[in-house]
Amino acid sequence: MRAFSYQRPTAIADAVALLAEHGPDARVIAGGTDLIIRLRDGSVRPSVVVDVKRIPELDPAIREVDGRLVIGATTVMTDIAADERIRRRFTALAEAAAVVGSVQIRNRATLAGNLCNASPAADTAPSLLVYEAEVVVAGPDGMRRIPVDALFVRSGVTTLRRGELVTAIELPLDRPPMGSAHQRRTRRRGHDLASVTLACGVDASGVTRLAYGSVGPRPLLVTDASGVLADPARPEADRAAILERMLVDASPSERSMRASPDYRLAMLRVLGWRALATAIRRLAAEE
Ligand SMILES: Cc1cc2nc3c(=O)[nH]c(=O)nc-3n(C[C@H](O)[C@H](O)[C@H](O)COP(=O)(O)OP(=O)(O)OC[C@H]3O[C@@H](n4cnc5c(N)ncnc54)[C@H](O)[C@@H]3O)c2cc1C
Repeated sequence: MRAFSYQRPTAIADAVALLAEHGPDARVIAGGTDLIIRLRDGSVRPSVVVDVKRIPELDPAIREVDGRLVIGATTVMTDIAADERIRRRFTALAEAAAVVGSVQIRNRATLAGNLCNASPAADTAPSLLVYEAEVVVAGPDGMRRIPVDALFVRSGVTTLRRGELVTAIELPLDRPPMGSAHQRRTRRRGHDLASVTLACGVDASGVTRLAYGSVGPRPLLVTDASGVLADPARPEADRAAILERMLVDASPSERSMRASPDYRLAMLRVLGWRALATAIRRLAAEE
């Protein structure tokens, strides 16, 4: 591992100043479950690593503020999976957080790190897309919000600018409730990254949101506002045609060692139906 300077600022402004000064030579570290591996294998070689866990505004807390559920940037998967408000209102996110890695990984891995790492296989990304979550970002020009859909570019690349760091992830509480579900497929039981990871959300107006990852360079969100997919009484063929259209942008890589494109596309369809059925059932139970 190449030697680097380890910085532990206690104020957002100091972290931003370090990131702005060093640009691509600086890396934020939160739980380190992605970054440490990349430092070890030499695929990233920063000269400065900025540990953000001592910054009070990024504390590991989940708060209700002005109609939003605000998840601090150092909140770990274990706490997200256990939070009653998330389990009830954002069920697919709780389910996704609960399957990340192992107990030890979930005790370190942050939601912000999962997003900023920008892996197409990130398990929490599909649910955050379905709920239209936003990331709150601090940078040299102040604070801004980025819809999660506008954060991802491709594997490992986000729209965060030089000097920016994520301070929180926000989920809207003032929208009609959704029934939602997360599903994923891995090569084996135990911890493995997903060959397909997917979330579905259905609301009482019949809008169906489907988001899927690990089948292309970034996770994708697609929406059906016709109400047909959300209604099990509609003809099977009509619903299947809509689902097929929603999956058309999946483009799994030929080169991945995890699963063939054909297998991923087949599983995407299977998991899509399963998540949809569960989401519809959960919405009905809620009403
Ligand atoms: C054994 C193992 C199993 C795993 N299994 C899964 C799995 O099943 N599903 C899954 O989705 N992932 C899995 N992962 C990947 C990893 O655990 C997650 O992506 C995790 O959520 C990353 O969070 P972290 O806090 O550890 O991030 P870190 O490693 O600290 O950081 C990850 C990246 O995000 C950046 N970053 C972190 N915080 C911020 C911030 N606040 N602002 C800006 N940039 C930031 C870092 O600079 C780095 O580039 C696994 C990893 C391991 C080692």
